[in-house]
Amino acid sequence: CGIVAYIGYREACPIIIKGLRRLEYRGYDSAGVALLNGTLNVYKKKGKVQELENFIAEKDTHAHIGMGHTRWATHGEPNDSNAHPHYSTSERIAIIHNGIIENYAALKTHLQKQGHVFHSDTDTEVFVNLIEEIQKQNSCSLEEAVRLALHEVVGAYAIVVLSKDDPNQLIAARKGSPLVIGVGKDEFFLASDATPIIEYTNEVIYVNDYEIVVIRDGKLDIRSKEDVKQTPYIQKLEMEL
Ligand code: GLU
Repeated sequence: CGIVAYIGYREACPIIIKGLRRLEYRGYDSAGVALLNGTLNVYKKKGKVQELENFIAEKDTHAHIGMGHTRWATHGEPNDSNAHPHYSTSERIAIIHNGIIENYAALKTHLQKQGHVFHSDTDTEVFVNLIEEIQKQNSCSLEEAVRLALHEVVGAYAIVVLSKDDPNQLIAARKGSPLVIGVGKDEFFLASDATPIIEYTNEVIYVNDYEIVVIRDGKLDIRSKEDVKQTPYIQKLEMEL
C-alpha cells in the first residue's frame, strides 16, 4: 500500500523507515525493507512499522540503496512471509509492489513448471519470478527484463526492483498505482506520494502510467514500455513540513 525507496550517499534505512511512517495513514497490515550492500537483505514483519523497527534493531542495515513497503493484503493473509519485499527464487532480485496482478495464477503455474519456488501466497512474488525468468531466457539487463515483464502482467502496480547483480541501480514502474520520484543532489527518492520526500528535496517527478524509471550511477532515465526515452517534467513543491 505504501512504497519508499532511496539511492544516494546517505544511510538508506532510516530514510525508508521514516518514510514508511509518513505513509502509515494509507493503512497497512505489515511492513518490510530490502537493503542492498553487497548482499541483498530483506527484513519484514506483520504488524506496525514499529515492529519492523524492533526486528531490525540488531540487524545489519548499513546500505546506501534500499526500499521499504507497507502492505495492504489482497492475495494471501497478512503474515511475515506474505509481507514485502519478495525475493526471486535465486534471491538475487527483490521487489516491492502496490496493486494487484490479475493473471498471477496462470503465470505462477507456468513459472513453477520452469522450476521457480514460491514462499508466499502473493501475486507479487509471481511478478519478481517472472522478471528473473525473462532475464534468464533473454540474457538481458534487469531493466529490459522488467520492461518485458510489464507486457505480460495484467492489473495495477507500482513496483520497485533491486538486484544483487546491479549494486548501483533502482528500477521502478507504475500502472494505476501512484509513484513519485524525488530528485535531490546526488540522490533520488521514490515514494507513493511526496510526504516521505519533502524533507529532503522539493523537486519531484510524478511517474506516468506505463513508464519505467531507471536510476543508475546517479542518473535518472525514464522510458515508455516501448523503450522510448521520456523527458521528465520536474515540479517544484511548495509544502509546509
Ligand atoms: N497484491 C499485493 C499483496 O497482496 C500488494 C498489496 C498492496 O498494495 O499492498 O501482497
